[in-house]
Amino acid sequence: MDLGDLAWPEYAERVKANPVVFLPVGSLEQHGPHLPLATDALLPAALARDAAAEVGGLVLPTIPYGYRSMPKSGGGPGFPGTTDLEAMTLIHLVHDILCEQARHGVRKVCVLVGHYENQWMVTEGIHLAMARIGGAGVRVMRVEYWDLLDEAVLDAVFESGPRSIALEHAAVMETSLMLHYHPERVRLDRIPDDPPAEFPPYDMFPAVAAWVPSSGALTSAKAATAAKGRLMAEAIRSRLAVAIAKEFAPT
Ligand code: ZN
Ligand code: MN
Repeated sequence: MDLGDLAWPEYAERVKANPVVFLPVGSLEQHGPHLPLATDALLPAALARDAAAEVGGLVLPTIPYGYRSMPKSGGGPGFPGTTDLEAMTLIHLVHDILCEQARHGVRKVCVLVGHYENQWMVTEGIHLAMARIGGAGVRVMRVEYWDLLDEAVLDAVFESGPRSIALEHAAVMETSLMLHYHPERVRLDRIPDDPPAEFPPYDMFPAVAAWVPSSGALTSAKAATAAKGRLMAEAIRSRLAVAIAKEFAPT
């Protein structure tokens, strides 16, 4: 189901059946001492493959970079390795990929976002692409995968502990999902145990490095487990499949 693995005749044949095409959008960003820089790209790619298997879709190559990491949601630009795009670069990437897929006949797209800061740049790329494509019947869903986690799943994942999706950077959610999909890429012996970061209700430019815990994780990742990752992955797969069936149903 990886679109990039298909030869062109296979691609043409598959697109004739009007599949949902997934575009995972990630980042190259610090994720603490225990997770790889590519975490925000690896997770939506894996989740998109699961969803594509469920609905018979195809998965585009992931956009491996994202919009500027912010201290309060991703640690900010001060960590070695964090490699940010300017807004227009990401907008153009999303726009160009959607326009090209539409030119080849793709009509159903699900853009699966794995990096918090990407949301509005991705939205703008979709918006400009829709205007460019015109009335070809193309429909696009944009979803941040964590928004597919309902209260029951969040209760199970966070147990009685503090719960703040805003601080879930390199913490329980991402570490658990990585333990489920890519356990060999998690450095178990380096999982940090920072208390929840406390941020002021504003941003500063240049970023203030002292706001961010030195590990780069915005709250403790100690409670992460592969079982929690599987629970979240299954919840996301099934809720995404339901949403796709609803929104892309023939009218
Ligand atoms: Zn992340
Ligand atoms: Mn991120």
